[in-house]
Amino acid sequence: MSTSSIQVPFVDLSTQFELLRGELLPRMEHVMKRAAFILGEEVEEFEQVFATFCGCVECVGVSSGCDALLWAMKSLGIGPGDEVITVANTYIATVLAIKMAGATPVLVDCLVDTWEIDPQAVERALTPCTKAILPVHLYGQPADMNALRKIVQGKSIYLVEDAAQAHGAIYQGEKCGSMGALGCFSFYPGKNLGAYGDGGAVVTKNAEWADYIRMMRNYGQRKKYHHELAGWNSRLDTLQAAVLLIKMRHLDKWNTARRRIAQQYHESLKGYPVRFQSADEGVVPVYHLMAVMTARRDDLLAHMNRWGVQCGIHYPIPVHLQKACEDLALPEGSFPVSEELARQELSLPMYPELNDQQVAHICQSVKAFFED
Ligand SMILES: *Cc1c(COP(=O)(O)O)cnc(C)c1O
Repeated sequence: MSTSSIQVPFVDLSTQFELLRGELLPRMEHVMKRAAFILGEEVEEFEQVFATFCGCVECVGVSSGCDALLWAMKSLGIGPGDEVITVANTYIATVLAIKMAGATPVLVDCLVDTWEIDPQAVERALTPCTKAILPVHLYGQPADMNALRKIVQGKSIYLVEDAAQAHGAIYQGEKCGSMGALGCFSFYPGKNLGAYGDGGAVVTKNAEWADYIRMMRNYGQRKKYHHELAGWNSRLDTLQAAVLLIKMRHLDKWNTARRRIAQQYHESLKGYPVRFQSADEGVVPVYHLMAVMTARRDDLLAHMNRWGVQCGIHYPIPVHLQKACEDLALPEGSFPVSEELARQELSLPMYPELNDQQVAHICQSVKAFFED
């Protein structure tokens, strides 16, 4: 048993709120005093700031990461009869958004070392119906974009990035979200850039697609009460945009802190039977999660809890084995690497507010488990 009284939550958004209180509340109050809660000033300002951050011209704020994925595909005309290739090792939103667009998700496995979409498997999955490839920069680490670009070169197949875990991650000098036709982000509270509720955004360099999404998220109107498209209500909240604007000032610093903590984990746990996600040449990950793999995952998880360290599993059931995906008819064994991740992955606490003492305690807890 641990003799320590240190408690480490899996995420700690309240510590961050206390640090930001003085900046956040006035900006939120500004919205509430004006009583202008739908679109307007903060949403437009945030869209500009986030587009620039991503190295894109256009950004459209929407109500969630899931909606961002849906509208990105719809803007490309993807729908019934079309196939979209994505990776089995992802959060279910990626796959459900493809289904909601009316298209067919075609899943492929991830690579053994980077745990990102396997480009060779993508190549094998291509058919005349393939309309897009949807890589996921999972855990904040960029997928192998050069290999995917090579695959779509000269073909009318789009790359759409699920960058919901990769705000600020860099692939050979390019920001995640800026490399495909469109990039999709989530501002779910626990993400590297998180709102105080749901939120999302699509970034792109294409004004036509941005224009389409800007209309679709707001009942298909460009001008109030003039509905040109059969759109929907999928807007980014103005209060959430105010929160995000303040948090944008800190994002780079936070991502740097995450990388420093990741380095502490890597160094401290060297030689222990945990595997880390390996990174391609020239990438700068943002460590949305600190994922490790170990054959004794469930025992380690229970041990960590006894030592006061909350951990997570991302994700316990692979998407192709979810009931919502049974129509894909992909039995167990279809994607061995993704399935092994579901059995062996453990997420250690990872957020910029973690202090050295906490990180040391987490590492000490892992070591104690294997030294027992
Ligand atoms: C969080 C997440 C989403 C969905 O975002 P929501 O804002 O929760 O809808 C999509 N894809 C990935 C990889 C995610 O991690």
